[in-house]
Amino acid sequence: MSLLSIVLPSYNEEAMLPRTIRTLKQVMEEAGISFELVFVDDGSRDASWQLIMDAASEDSRIHGVHFSRNFGKEAAIFAGLSAASGDCAAVMDCDLQHPPETLVQMYHLWEQGYEVIEGEKRSRGKESIAHRASAGAFYRIMTKATGIDMSRASDFKLLDRKAVDALLEISEHNSFFRAQSSWIGFRTTSVEFDVQEREAGESKWSTRALIRYAVCNIVGYSSVPMQLVTTAGFIFLVLSFILGIQTLIRYASGHAVEGFTTVILLLLIIGSILMISLGIIGYYISRIFQEVQGRPKYIISKRV
Ligand code: UDP
Ligand code: MG
Repeated sequence: MSLLSIVLPSYNEEAMLPRTIRTLKQVMEEAGISFELVFVDDGSRDASWQLIMDAASEDSRIHGVHFSRNFGKEAAIFAGLSAASGDCAAVMDCDLQHPPETLVQMYHLWEQGYEVIEGEKRSRGKESIAHRASAGAFYRIMTKATGIDMSRASDFKLLDRKAVDALLEISEHNSFFRAQSSWIGFRTTSVEFDVQEREAGESKWSTRALIRYAVCNIVGYSSVPMQLVTTAGFIFLVLSFILGIQTLIRYASGHAVEGFTTVILLLLIIGSILMISLGIIGYYISRIFQEVQGRPKYIISKRV
């Protein structure tokens, strides 16, 4: 019989862990699926790791990996996938916002021969308007950058062993699970689900973390921002031709002292465009720097 590994990144989830374990066990047993739970404790500072250890000592199907500090959800997903031993592996949030019933549905699709089964959000659940708007903008840019429709993408996915191994071979330091799972190809399908409300605890994403996440992933998948710099350069080259000719004509006709405002404006505009351009290029250089350093994605301190 085939084994399903369920990878659950968890960061300060003491409020949800016992409930999640209970629900998942119940749903999987009812569906008659043999499974293992792989919890990745992303450096939690609450009782999460203790709860995972207790659960693991009671039930041999529960495994846990503990990070030495908070490395982020992406790193946790990859650590979980590399610790998973199943014939297929699913990734889901451990706050039950991804419905376990959908997981059963995904498993049946896997049995039918699909190798990558993506969870797509039918509705986004409860969110603030600002969060919804910024998430919308981020996904529009990412859709353009990756060429994959990401507006309803989520981290809720089920992957065949082949796909898991392919993903683990990508050695990129800044991984982006949502995009990489479609980038690898394979026989893909998707399942729609409704994002459930979080029953306890709170979202672990601060606005700052989300912005950092967005910039990092855009830089990782698209060089359009760098090409914008070139475009701006060309526009200014054309403008400088026009202004240059105008200046020469004024010089020839003896009106050379005027136009000081133009000089100031040009200095300001060119100065700020140069700064922004340098900043954009800086992002890519820092990205290259990180990849060259080749630091590990995460460091594991304990396992059960
Ligand atoms: N998470 C994580 N590391 C982090 C932040 C979040 O492993 O640094 C986990 C978290 O425990 C949860 C999942 O990622 O299982 C989704 O996080 P959350 O529910 O806070 O995000 P939201 O549902 O609000 O997008
Ligand atoms: Mg959540």
